[in-house]
Amino acid sequence: MMGTLRDGRERAVIVVRTRGARSYDGAGAMGGWGEVGGMSAEPLPGDGPADAAPAPFRPSPTVRPGPRRLATVRPVPPPPTAPMVRPGRHAAPDPVDGPAPSAAPVAPPAPPPPAPAPRAPRPAPPTPEADAARRVREAWEEVGPQVDELADWFAALLFSLDPGSRALFPARVTEPARRLLRSLVLAMSTVDRPADLAALLEPLVREHRALGLRAGQYETLGVALIGAMRRFGGATWDDAAEHAWVRAFSLAAGPMEDAARAAGNDGAPALAEATVVGHRRVGWDLAVLHVAPDRPVPHRAGQSLTVEIPQRPRMWRALSPVTAPRPDGLLEFHVRAVEGGWVSRAMVAHTATGDRWRLGPASGRLGLDPRSEREVLMVAGGTGGAPVLALCEDMARWARPRPCTVFLGGRVPDDLVVLARLRALAETHPWLAVAPVCEDDPLNAETLPGTLPDAVVRSGDWSSHDVLLSGSPAMIRATAQALLVDGVPLDRIAYDPFTQ
Ligand SMILES: Cc1cc2nc3c(=O)[nH]c(=O)nc-3n(C[C@H](O)[C@H](O)[C@H](O)COP(=O)(O)OP(=O)(O)OC[C@H]3O[C@@H](n4cnc5c(N)ncnc54)[C@H](O)[C@@H]3O)c2cc1C
Repeated sequence: MMGTLRDGRERAVIVVRTRGARSYDGAGAMGGWGEVGGMSAEPLPGDGPADAAPAPFRPSPTVRPGPRRLATVRPVPPPPTAPMVRPGRHAAPDPVDGPAPSAAPVAPPAPPPPAPAPRAPRPAPPTPEADAARRVREAWEEVGPQVDELADWFAALLFSLDPGSRALFPARVTEPARRLLRSLVLAMSTVDRPADLAALLEPLVREHRALGLRAGQYETLGVALIGAMRRFGGATWDDAAEHAWVRAFSLAAGPMEDAARAAGNDGAPALAEATVVGHRRVGWDLAVLHVAPDRPVPHRAGQSLTVEIPQRPRMWRALSPVTAPRPDGLLEFHVRAVEGGWVSRAMVAHTATGDRWRLGPASGRLGLDPRSEREVLMVAGGTGGAPVLALCEDMARWARPRPCTVFLGGRVPDDLVVLARLRALAETHPWLAVAPVCEDDPLNAETLPGTLPDAVVRSGDWSSHDVLLSGSPAMIRATAQALLVDGVPLDRIAYDPFTQ
């Protein structure tokens, strides 16, 4: 039965929608958060028919703005490890001691005093870890506009301290040094939240290993980082700030070094070699690539892999496999050449079958929580459709898939590369609904007009859904904002922006 989804202009558009199972236990939920997904038994899907018949659609009820939830603060545990880096010449005493006790109130002799008003409990003083993490976040924000200069300075210091590390970077060091810095600072800013730090460590260390960093190099990284911050920290950089950064680095680097050592001992190679077995341009700036790794690369649907191509050595970029993991390990990527892009342009224009690529570890939190029973809303822009298709393919293997609506957006219909495959999946899986959105094609009766955020909020009430966003940071920001205003709680919105 053909159903319709009405947009703000009362136009009927494509759509499919869920009528299937209404109770879910997540059984067989490969690709749940934190797990490595199982291998798909399905062949690599080819492009399906562009005009696949839509499945029935049940419109969502009206939007009701709901309350916005605040993130909860986790308790602070003792430091996980002893400091590795000692405070330098600016070392300051621990900035956190409890406030001095206040003087006792003096009561007048007569008349008898009124009952004292109850006092608000005094907030607990921040722990040294919380103070260090806060100072890291604040100082990093402060140097934001100068991050490229800071990255160059950091790299220069690193190379002078450890000349061998120069070989890990390409000729232009700014961008990889900036990424490395960001990953270190991210870990340092979570030293007061051990669960978050622990969740970060494994993927972060795998990424560092893929860069070629080894366990023994973390201390040098710390010295170069603190030296660069000393140079660029500006007026806010003082002894207390330096002491806090040293503390945060030491707390983060200990577990990072341990994890790097453990990863090095497990015998697993940090990288996988792979051969390009297919390269097809589907537009002047867009290519579909098939890559066969020498050994399967562990990942789950929705995650991305870092990739290095022979045309741009040591310039690692993240790409999201388009399909759920396959038994033969074959990977499909959709790559859009960005303006002035070093790597994406080479991938689209100069890659040839037979090229040898190197693949780094999988990372990314985009996934479906198998414990949740909520319906799912996925919103993807352009090549952001890749992880969304992978997740839908993965969910198609679940015993009880969750009703899921996908909005896939692009400027023109040609941008909707995975639309045909999503529609083909929706045809055989009634839990899936697909709505294409095109900004610059208002006369196309098959697509919703306007921007993705507009189309999404116009089309229903998503306040009780789990939401996944995939695509450019601008699209993700705008869509998340629109959904928050419409009552979707912040903690139900997951995203992985396509930027490094
Ligand atoms: C988790 C994740 C998954 C990703 N998956 C894919 C994917 O499946 N397919 C894909 O094509 N890309 C994907 N990307 C983006 C990809 O990793 C690169 O960032 C992108 O290809 C640009 O790299 P570049 O070397 O060509 O550009 P750079 O040389 O790094 O940058 C050149 C210019 O382009 C800008 N720029 C960088 N990235 C983007 C972007 N994504 N959009 C617009 N402008 C940009 C920069 O700010 C800079 O001004 C993903 C990114 C992440 C973080």
